Amino acid sequence: MKLIIASNNQGKIRELKEILSPLGYEPVSMKEAGIDIDIIEDGETFSENARIKAQAIYEIAKIPVLADDSGLAVDFLDGAPGVYSARYAGENASDKDRMNKILEELEGVDKSLRGAKFVCSLYFIKDDETEICVSGECHGFIGEEPIGDNGFGYDPIFMIEDGVSMACIPAEEKNKISHRARALQSLVEELS
Ligand code: IMP
Repeated sequence: MKLIIASNNQGKIRELKEILSPLGYEPVSMKEAGIDIDIIEDGETFSENARIKAQAIYEIAKIPVLADDSGLAVDFLDGAPGVYSARYAGENASDKDRMNKILEELEGVDKSLRGAKFVCSLYFIKDDETEICVSGECHGFIGEEPIGDNGFGYDPIFMIEDGVSMACIPAEEKNKISHRARALQSLVEELS
């Protein structure tokens, strides 16, 4: 079944394809589906933003849509960057700028207070009657410096254990433990 993924973030699309293809779905990006709209993500929660995106695309395409909204929540920063994860260091900043901002904000903070989680909310619209919202979390802590070359976004500073960041492990490993994998697992359970 063809499924539009309501995103143009290549890192996320790659991960969702890897997870969804074995389940019999044929995920296509917005671009591949010929949809080029700017969606204002002004929700206050990850699930609200996911719903806004899914509904906007479904209105146009009328085929199944899966929208995700995700980000990083750092305990010491009271859950920031949260829904502002993508633009935490300003509109034109890079992943490196965003990671550096967090590292600066946590400078001198003890490891015991550097807890963080990745959160992912998924909003699936199958047809006019079926809408499902699920979330998944992955817990870790913020390291002292970026390490690893895999993944994307905040992965190099998100430590899953001492000396091992999310960017140190291969994609197949990340796809088993990530916030997105856990949210997708819940979605699959809900669907069945
Ligand atoms: P959005 O969900 O497209 O709004 O992006 C949220 C932000 O969180 C982006 O800046 C991503 O880099 C970041 N993010 C989301 N998922 C991950 C992940 O699995 N690893 C690292 N960063 C992530």
